[in-house]
Amino acid sequence: MRHCNSVFSAQDIWYLLDSGNYTKRKLYIADCPVCNKKMALYSFFDTDKNSYFEKYYYSGGALKIKEKLKKDVVSTMLGFKYKYKAPYGFKYGKNTEIKRNGKVVAIKQYACDFWGRKELVKKTENE
Ligand SMILES: [Zn+2]
Repeated sequence: MRHCNSVFSAQDIWYLLDSGNYTKRKLYIADCPVCNKKMALYSFFDTDKNSYFEKYYYSGGALKIKEKLKKDVVSTMLGFKYKYKAPYGFKYGKNTEIKRNGKVVAIKQYACDFWGRKELVKKTENE
């Protein structure tokens, strides 16, 4: 992350569920080591535009985006310092659509890791 002409690592990273065409969503969180400002960097891949987007939020804005995205957290980097259950390591959110007669009837949201394990987080019925 960047601020005050310096580059530093996030103190925590939130891995977020997919939301519509936004996938690989992550929120990087840190306090600037120079000016102490609270910062959040929201990054995601937009499948419609086929590209990555990044947006910085500061102070109150950083708190607001954390509050807004809290419900979508699949896992956090800090969480894994003391939590260790499958799927573990770096995870990402994945949505699977369940179709019946060509119509989406439910969406299953999984937490996946890079070893192929997955865990059902939430199932949303469309009916
Ligand atoms: Zn700063």
